[in-house]
Amino acid sequence: MRFGDERESSNFEDVTGRSGGGFGLGGGGNALGCLIPLIASRFGIGGVIVLVIGYFLLSSLGGLGGLGGGGGGGLVPPTQRSAPVGKSTIDPNTRHFMLQVLASTEDTWNKLLGGRYQPTTLVAYSQGYQSGCGAAQSAMGPFYCPTDRKIYLDTEFFNELSQRFQAPGDFAQAYVIAHEVGHHVQDLEGTLEQAHAAQARAGETQGNAIQVKVELQADCYAGVWAKNAVDPQGRPVMEQGDFEEGMRAAEAIGDDTLQKQSQGVVVPDSFTHGTSAQRMKALQLGYQSGDPSACRF
Ligand SMILES: [Zn+2]
Repeated sequence: MRFGDERESSNFEDVTGRSGGGFGLGGGGNALGCLIPLIASRFGIGGVIVLVIGYFLLSSLGGLGGLGGGGGGGLVPPTQRSAPVGKSTIDPNTRHFMLQVLASTEDTWNKLLGGRYQPTTLVAYSQGYQSGCGAAQSAMGPFYCPTDRKIYLDTEFFNELSQRFQAPGDFAQAYVIAHEVGHHVQDLEGTLEQAHAAQARAGETQGNAIQVKVELQADCYAGVWAKNAVDPQGRPVMEQGDFEEGMRAAEAIGDDTLQKQSQGVVVPDSFTHGTSAQRMKALQLGYQSGDPSACRF
């Protein structure tokens, strides 16, 4: 991608310096469909265990004020967190790139939505943090939380993307951010709320199918952003080879590919994000059309 001296977004919270804090039970926040991760959870049951152990550890240490009351505890306000504020652990180049991408999504979506776009906030955390949708953990991958309308990202995921998922490149990273911004656009459009309402009425398999459509649209929106992203002189920021980087990332995080790797077998009814082929096709649809209204699933 060709970013020059384009502006950085100011809708950013860097909490990487807070020592791993934030584990806790987020009240009803973790309900199905509230928290929307980039990839199907690799740590379904394990994650819950970590979360519960973390909770008991912290309660026995009396560590987290405000959680003891139990029952719908919800988000712990920042002022009540005991985690100390330390130095940021984000690489300055990564930070600069992320904020230019975020700013570009703001400008682009504002144009596409006729000036009605309200920006989301990107929260960069390390290891664990308390989101408006409950505990955020690196293992969950990046996600969007509709409750506080923020994107949660551990930048370590970018390393994972290039190494474990074999999807290096700046546009692979930008695609991750743009996908989450895509969920925010869905949130602004009321699509997320409709999907959650439909999921509440549906069985598990049907609920998963609804989730897949939401995810594919976010992939498509990422492509729409990329196609429309321009520098202040109006030149496209996408360069030769960028789109292919995004396609490799979309392929690597498809449900079938992840399931084959983790459990050897593929269970289509359990898909929540779509197959590799579907995710690639969705990103491509957005990129080729450049039109959000083409992103129908
Ligand atoms: Zn998603």
